[in-house]
Amino acid sequence: MSIKITEECINCGACESECPNHAIYEGGKKWRMSDGTSLKKKKSEKIDFTIPQNPKKKDIYFIVSEKCTECVGFYEEPQCVIICPVSCCVLDEKSLESKEDLLKKKNFLHDSF
Ligand code: SF4
Ligand code: SF4
Repeated sequence: MSIKITEECINCGACESECPNHAIYEGGKKWRMSDGTSLKKKKSEKIDFTIPQNPKKKDIYFIVSEKCTECVGFYEEPQCVIICPVSCCVLDEKSLESKEDLLKKKNFLHDSF
């Protein structure tokens, strides 16, 4: 599972710098798979991970589920969950992933190229 941020977010920004995958963005900000990862433009397969994507939320911080690994591969516990002062970082039940899959995702994000 990835973590999601609920509407209770007070926009304090404390979680953003804690994420080892740069998966957390301020509301309204564009995001890229390449931010904070080793993913780059892959010309041979016409995949460009540096293309900016539209924000997933406009008014509150959001987590890019494609980049969230629940901190697997870096820490024992999800860092955003620990640091959030209002406990609004919670497991996203719609995004179920095994620990093995999360580790594969971590390796994809950081060791692919
Ligand atoms: Fe980032 Fe970890 Fe929070 Fe996922 S659980 S958003 S990887 S800090
Ligand atoms: Fe929102 Fe919690 Fe992150 Fe602060 S730490 S920006 S309240 S999700």
